[in-house]
Amino acid sequence: MHVGSLEMHLNRKPIKNLHISVLPPDGKIRVSAPEKMTDNAIRMAVIKRIPWIKKQKEEFARQPRQSDRKFVSGENHYLWGRRYRLEVIERRGSHEVIVSGSNKLKLYVNPGTKLKNKERVFNEFYRHELSNQINKLLTKWVKKIGKTPDFIGIKKMKTKWGSCNTQDKRIWINLELAKKAPECTEYILVHELVHLLERKHNENFMRYMDKFMPTWRERRELLNKSPLSFSDWHY
Ligand SMILES: [Zn+2]
Repeated sequence: MHVGSLEMHLNRKPIKNLHISVLPPDGKIRVSAPEKMTDNAIRMAVIKRIPWIKKQKEEFARQPRQSDRKFVSGENHYLWGRRYRLEVIERRGSHEVIVSGSNKLKLYVNPGTKLKNKERVFNEFYRHELSNQINKLLTKWVKKIGKTPDFIGIKKMKTKWGSCNTQDKRIWINLELAKKAPECTEYILVHELVHLLERKHNENFMRYMDKFMPTWRERRELLNKSPLSFSDWHY
């Protein structure tokens, strides 16, 4: 579907409201529309949101992309919302990432290690960091909310910060959160745990969020403002 110079992919779904997503990394536009909505009504709804869409696209164009990272000394990498300068140290031994002081990350690899493997070492580092953080938070929040997930895992997701399968009580947290301020991880974790009380994003859900985490809106703002953010993270 084309609206002006913008090309978008239209999905019809059994949903109540039209939903527009601008997806990383290149700002592809996806429109999810209720099955009964007319083409004209969809176009009108999209046109109204063109300024927002353009702003999202510009932001993606400005942001450094993970895929652009070369894992060379001097490059910037994020951990818990802070920027660190990378130092790559080639030596024989096991691969690892170490936080050194307040602004340096040291990547230890064997001489000649390929980009893909350096990236893998980094992802393992992020996974370890995020897993520690989640474990620390989980006890507190399970107690507060009164629901325990059967499974909680970490993975890379393209369009969601977290997800919750309420039937199986399975929660997934996006690996990318290790790059954001810790308050963001806590917010996503609470959001997904609240789904164990209320499956939908309805008023009841918002009431729980306000009760358990009165600062959730500020945290969401922080998450959407920080680099590499998705314009749309959960629905
Ligand atoms: Zn949700």
